[in-house]
Order: sequence, then C-alpha cells, then structure tokens
Amino acid sequence: MARFELVVVGGGMVGMTLIAALAPAMAQGLGITLIDPAVQPQLGLAPSPSFDGRATALSAQALQLFAALNMAQLEQALSDITEIEVSDRGHAGLLDLNAHALGFERFGAVVANADLGALLWQKIQSLPVHWRFNSQVANLAPSQSGQVVTLTDGTVLAADQVILCDGGRSKLHESLGFSLRETPFQAVARVATLTTAKPHRGRAFERFTELGPIALLPFGQASTLVWTVPEKLIGTLPNTPATAIPWLEQRIGQRLGRITGLTDWSEYPLIERQMTTACSHGFLALGNAAATLHPVAGQGFNLAMRGLARTANLINRQYDQDHGLPSFRQFNAVAETIARDQAQTANVSRELIQLFQSSAPLLRWGRGLALNSLDRHATLRQGVALAGMGLLADVPALATT
Ligand SMILES: Cc1cc2nc3c(=O)[nH]c(=O)nc-3n(C[C@H](O)[C@H](O)[C@H](O)COP(=O)(O)OP(=O)(O)OC[C@H]3O[C@@H](n4cnc5c(N)ncnc54)[C@H](O)[C@@H]3O)c2cc1C
Repeated sequence: MARFELVVVGGGMVGMTLIAALAPAMAQGLGITLIDPAVQPQLGLAPSPSFDGRATALSAQALQLFAALNMAQLEQALSDITEIEVSDRGHAGLLDLNAHALGFERFGAVVANADLGALLWQKIQSLPVHWRFNSQVANLAPSQSGQVVTLTDGTVLAADQVILCDGGRSKLHESLGFSLRETPFQAVARVATLTTAKPHRGRAFERFTELGPIALLPFGQASTLVWTVPEKLIGTLPNTPATAIPWLEQRIGQRLGRITGLTDWSEYPLIERQMTTACSHGFLALGNAAATLHPVAGQGFNLAMRGLARTANLINRQYDQDHGLPSFRQFNAVAETIARDQAQTANVSRELIQLFQSSAPLLRWGRGLALNSLDRHATLRQGVALAGMGLLADVPALATT
C-alpha cells in the first residue's frame, strides 16, 4: 500500500491554494498527494467544478495572502472594488463606502473562478506533488497511524494525515461518523454576467429587496450578478435572461444605466452547512467541506483562505522545526480557531439575510436608520469596511517561497 504523509482530497479553490501555501514544507521534504475526479488541468484550463463560470469577490486580506504566495499574475485578472453601495429597495437608508476616502487602495477585487484555477495550476504544477486526477476517494477509515484512503477504482493508500477539501460534494465525512448541521435557505443563487450602459468604475452594489438580496460586482467591463431567489417564487419570477432584464432594472434602478445584456446564467442551491467535528486523528476538513455559507456576503472562500493559511502556517512551521507533521493536539487547536471564525462569519451572513428579508415595519425602519448612521459615522464606516475586507481577523502571514 502506497504511503503518503499528507493526502489532500479535492483540488478545487481550497485544495489547490493549500498546495501552493505548503510549498515551504514540500521544499523540506513533505510528501503530498492530491486527489480529484476532474481531469488534469492544462495551461489556462482547470476543469474542477470549483473553477466554473462564477466569479469570486476576494477580500483585501485574501489578496494579501495570494500576494504572499507570489501570485503576481493574479493582479492582471482582478477587477478592483473601490466603492460599495448598500441599499434597501423602497426605503430610506443607503450606505456608501469609498475605499480611497477611508484610506484604502481597494476593498477587495473580483476574479473569474476559471482564471483563478488556471493561475493556481500554473503556480503549483511543478511542485513535487503526487497528482492523482481522474480519481475519486470513496472511503476514509481511521487507522493506528492516520487514515486509510480508498479510491473508487479500488486503490488503497495510507496517509498520516488527510485534509478534506471536497467542498462537501461527497459523503466522506459520513464514513468517519461525522454529521453536518444544515440550514437550507429555501432559495437559489442565480448568477449571471450583466453588461450595462454605464461603466461600473469599481462600484459594487448590494441591494436588499422584498424578494431577496441582489449583488452586483465589478467584473472586467461588465458586472457579475448574484441574485438570491426564494424557492417558492421561482415559478413566478422571470426565468429567462430576456424577461429578467426589465425586472432587474426595476429593482436595481438606473445606477449603471440600462442593462444591455445578461449572459452566463446559472443557478446554485443555497444551504448553510457546518461539519459538527472538522478534526480527528489524522483528519482535518477545510473550506466548504467544513463550512458552507450563504454567498450574500461573499465570504465563503475568504473564510476558507483564513483557515487554510492557519493550517499551512502550522504545517510549514512544524516541518521546518521537526521534519514531521504537527500532532493531533496542534491540528485540533487550529481547527478550533477556524471553527470560531466560521461560526462568527456564518452568524454575520445569516443576520444580514434575516434583517434585510424582514418586512416588519420596525425592522425596516431600524435597518434604514442603521444604514444612515453608518453612512454618517466615519469610524463605524471604517469598521464595516475593515470587517468586509477580512482585516479584523487575526491571521499569521503566509511564508513566501
Ligand atoms: C453563487 C456563489 C457565489 C459565491 N461567491 C463568493 C464570493 O464572492 N466570495 C467568496 O469568498 N466566496 C464565494 N462563494 C463561496 C466559494 O465559491 C466557496 O467557498 C469555494 O468554492 C469553496 O471551495 P472548496 O475548494 O472548498 O470546494 P469546491 O469548490 O466544491 O471544490 C471541491 C473539489 O473537491 C473535489 N471532490 C469532490 N468530491 C471528491 C472526492 N470524493 N474525492 C476527491 N475529490 C473530490 C471536486 O471535484 C472539487 O474539485 C460563492 C459560492 C457560490 C455558490
């Protein structure tokens, strides 16, 4: 049976970024295999479903972490977010944040998932990783010295440590006896690319409507749309690009002028999910495998970046000192920090949705007041901006290679 010190299950956004962040430990001899059912990426193309037609808003902190990984080419693929407008359709209350006025270069930036995948592969392809694409893990079982990893083709591998980055797409947590806490939001996220008569000039919009939040993010010459549609209304709301354009124009207003095109339309079910235990002997879950958030606050991958940076720091440090992996106690301490961060971030996203979905007059009045007072109060505005950029969370800097 082939034996690896570290087996990474899943080569999506989290698995691939983790590999990039572990380059210092690999330079010291850490042996890693990465397993993913997708075909092997090629130059400019990463076929994992993680790198589909979506775009991701990266927080300023995630951008700092990528910069530490020397991903200089990423800058050319980014659309900066320099202004954020939060508003509530049909009610007073508008929060207008300007990065430069608050002393920042940008709040974050948007990248096409496909571009991020291609750049990550470019970065990691020559690392001494044992790549196992076209392979899927069917089962994980604890052993005396770690985990036994069984693939769907019957191959069995031994691992000192497994890091699960499967995005919660398989049921591998069940083979270890762990369960998931699931909160379905009874809504789907409709994602599309929107072209408009006026340029976005780096402005992002978060518009809360009586039918759910609509986010618009700068994306090249266009904007990317994340429109949360309650499941019970799917049949009654416009469901083709042609019928959606006038509907959206009515809800968003003329902020970017007329909508001239709506393409790349796709839908994602919305479920908040948290693994009850993300760490056990020889096992750690990261990214969506450990916790999945509602995309309204655009925080899922940003949260995962903090978790993988904490994990990679621990492994790199330990490998540098002892030429060995961290102990269960050390992994568990990191998992507890990650779980606290996940719980806090999930709470903020959930409260945001509940607050803005409510049509109760008092809450409506309250949120208008809150948005207006935030808009007038410079320190509060800066606090909101720092939180959104991920800069309030304490994450050690990643080691460069
Ligand atoms: C509509 C939408 C918009 C979003 N926008 C944002 C945003 O703006 N900002 C933000 O921070 N986050 C955003 N997110 C969240 C972000 O997309 C996720 O946090 C991120 O994709 C999680 O990556 P992951 O690698 O953990 O999982 P995934 O992307 O699901 O990748 C999992 C990988 O594991 C592989 N795999 C699955 N099963 C197995 C198996 N059995 N064996 C081996 N490999 C396996 C899959 O092939 C895949 O490559 C958004 C999410 C959605 C749905």
